Amino acid sequence: MSSHIPPVEPVVHYVASCQLPTPWGVFAMHGFEEEGGREHVALTLGDIGDGEPVLARLHSECLTGDALFSLRCDCGFQLEAAMQAIAEEGRGALLYLRQEGRGIGLINKIRAYKLQDGGADTVEANEQLGFPADMRDFRIARHMLNHLGVSKVRVMTNNPRKLATLQNAGIDVVARVPLEVGRNPHNDRYLDTKAAKLGHMLFK
Ligand SMILES: [Zn+2]
Repeated sequence: MSSHIPPVEPVVHYVASCQLPTPWGVFAMHGFEEEGGREHVALTLGDIGDGEPVLARLHSECLTGDALFSLRCDCGFQLEAAMQAIAEEGRGALLYLRQEGRGIGLINKIRAYKLQDGGADTVEANEQLGFPADMRDFRIARHMLNHLGVSKVRVMTNNPRKLATLQNAGIDVVARVPLEVGRNPHNDRYLDTKAAKLGHMLFK
């Protein structure tokens, strides 16, 4: 998998916190601003600053999946399952990172979906548009976790390669927690591609 991480370390500033009631519980929501304009949030529950490993989801924004009920991917299902898992444990953190479309942006994701409508898979579509398969930068998440006092995480992901990516970004991952939800006829091929080309471990 090709990757493209900017050489300059991102700078992220904590701004403010509030309560966020959800169907699964009342989370604390913490807002962060990244120099350069993007805004990120962390939802937390319980005492996460006690040094014990924290159940965490580092969720990259997917407007279509998270907010528009898209069945082209599994993002919305993973977001919901992660919030539910954190609520069931009574302790955890969900980082909502504004790196839409694996970092290529919303409009480019629409261009990529159009190519997929014509037969390309998700990796081929990004490459046809001239983007690496994954442009996400998880160093932003490290800054956010540091601010929240989290030193070790149990990460909810189906992507074993993400663990290495997170560790390279300076995040201490002590375990992977699978998050297998949301397979449907519309995202079947997408999930197979993620398994075959991006190393995801997914149920069938
Ligand atoms: Zn998605």
